[in-house]
Amino acid sequence: MPRYEYRCRSCGDTFELNRPMAESGDPAVCPAGHGDTVKLLSTVAVGGSASASAPAPPSGGGGGCCGGGCCG
Ligand SMILES: [Zn+2]
Repeated sequence: MPRYEYRCRSCGDTFELNRPMAESGDPAVCPAGHGDTVKLLSTVAVGGSASASAPAPPSGGGGGCCGGGCCG
């Protein structure tokens, strides 16, 4: 589960929360009970480069027939 860091604007404290990515934007309550918090940049290390899902080139084959509308 990713870890997110928040900062309380009431007391200035920073704290971390382990929560699902879907809830990363939800408001977090500081350990002192304050609700006025902001999410800092995530400190979770994903690692590696994000080149796993490169966009695939369009499969046109050799004719390119369906590209010009001649198949309709
Ligand atoms: Zn606080």
